[in-house]
Amino acid sequence: MAAPTAPAGGVVVRVMATGMCRSDWHAWAGHDEIAFPHVPGHELAGVVAEVGAGVARWQVGDRVTVPFVCGCGRCRWCRAGEAQVCPDQQQPGFTHWGSFAEHVALHGADTNLVAIPERVDFPTAAALGCRFATAYRALVGRARVAEEEWVTVVGAGGVGLSTVMIARAMGCRVVAVDRHPAALAAAAALGAEHTVLADGADVPAAVVELTGGGSDVAVDAVGSEQTCADGIRSLRRRGRHVQIGLLPPVHGHPRVPMDRVIGWELDLLGSHGMAAADYPGMLALIEQGALCPELLVERTIGLEEAAELLPTFDRAAVAGMTMVDPAR
Ligand SMILES: [Zn+2]
Ligand SMILES: [Zn+2]
Repeated sequence: MAAPTAPAGGVVVRVMATGMCRSDWHAWAGHDEIAFPHVPGHELAGVVAEVGAGVARWQVGDRVTVPFVCGCGRCRWCRAGEAQVCPDQQQPGFTHWGSFAEHVALHGADTNLVAIPERVDFPTAAALGCRFATAYRALVGRARVAEEEWVTVVGAGGVGLSTVMIARAMGCRVVAVDRHPAALAAAAALGAEHTVLADGADVPAAVVELTGGGSDVAVDAVGSEQTCADGIRSLRRRGRHVQIGLLPPVHGHPRVPMDRVIGWELDLLGSHGMAAADYPGMLALIEQGALCPELLVERTIGLEEAAELLPTFDRAAVAGMTMVDPAR
């Protein structure tokens, strides 16, 4: 297949590392509108290999990463630094060919690219693009967590473990919930104070007991009717639920316990990645060593192995992030 070329205002990046995320599985499973043939992959870091017309800030050779949502750079949301909700957004691996490849085209370079600090390596930077940045925004930008608050994280995969790490760095107390003991062990190693095995258990009752009355914040890092409801019902009154896990309406829209939301004045918040404009705060914490996304990388595989893994990724018992190295 032909290598991608740089669109106007965009660049081509040589992929040095790219993460495999549950959203890639959603795309593979047909939950997004995608034109075939297709290349998935949306969490990436690499080196600028070609610069399109009209790009001012970037040159060949720059080390860069990018949020999975690339804003148009022109609309009112992009101009306000809110490219994560741009109505004209592009997403590598969804709206066009993504980063499970040696090269990927990226749009709106001046709005969306983020320079990788010298002390941050490519796999670490790739880990930021979707799950880590989404978790960071969920807690810092959306739930606005405060020290000593209880944060319940439902699902301890890549985004869930990111949430655990960031919540701890913010001084929060964490309860982690998962179906897999290995994922819970990883969450505990990152500082989760309590873990709940979701294997048929009454998750909300367990969380209410462990937190002495319910969690201040809940994050659904899976995306199912059950995990969404578990998050909401684990909250204390006036609590905040952040939905990160995707809930595509493939089986109809999920039933959400809105009676509880109203009666207890709960806040339901969505989190859709994080705009490049908000990266500096997160990168500063990484450079200081307060956040270590590289600890979340469980394994690194090549493109061939990635192709075999993707169809089973919804069932994979992974304890952390799977990183793909196209040169491997
Ligand atoms: Zn993702
Ligand atoms: Zn825009």
